Amino acid sequence: MNELLEYLQELGFEDLYLPRAAGDPAIEGKADRTASPRRSESALDRQARLAGLEEESRDCQLCTLCQGRQKVVFGSGDPDADLMFIGEGPGAEEDRQGLPFVGRAGDLLTKIIEAIGLRREEVYIANIVKCRPPGNRDPQPDEVAQCRGYLEQQIDLIEPKIIVLLGRVAAQTMLGNDLTLGRMRDQWHRVREVEARVTYHPAALLRNSSFKRPTWEDMQVVRDRLAEVSAR
Ligand code: URA
Repeated sequence: MNELLEYLQELGFEDLYLPRAAGDPAIEGKADRTASPRRSESALDRQARLAGLEEESRDCQLCTLCQGRQKVVFGSGDPDADLMFIGEGPGAEEDRQGLPFVGRAGDLLTKIIEAIGLRREEVYIANIVKCRPPGNRDPQPDEVAQCRGYLEQQIDLIEPKIIVLLGRVAAQTMLGNDLTLGRMRDQWHRVREVEARVTYHPAALLRNSSFKRPTWEDMQVVRDRLAEVSAR
């Protein structure tokens, strides 16, 4: 924990919200959300449909990225999550493990999630493309278009309360524009009827530490809004 605190301090984070302990009524109460009118299906149905979609994606050959992949990186986390993160596409480590954000950028994303008082397992993490673009290049429009159906179904099944779009490519893709990241930050958007916020990709933070503070500011806005919408 000390190591985490030191790290967050270095990132420029000033407030820290600790993850709730298991057994906390706030977490236990999550099971009741299945009865919420916002939820169109029971948690079990959603889990089963998400698992079915993941199974289907394993043999996907809709674009040429399938030729170079080791594993499809479908997504990971709580199918009942209030908060969903969407990144760009798997890197080498993600391709090897079949899990999103497990490399250095992934470690940083985990710390960012923890800094707003959540555990990584409590959110859902996915990418706009499920297979690794060669040499970590940006996904191409045809690849994004072919993969989009998976992501849209993931969003519709999970029905998060807030989506965080990580980086320019994810944000432009999901918002359907070609604006700079700076123009897309600092405002609420809608993605498939879900409130969405844009922030820097964790890999950009690793390259340029001046992005750490604005990212933290974005995440504080997300944290506060999540508290508001969860209280309803
Ligand atoms: N970058 C992404 O956008 N997604 C990952 O899963 C890993 C790195």
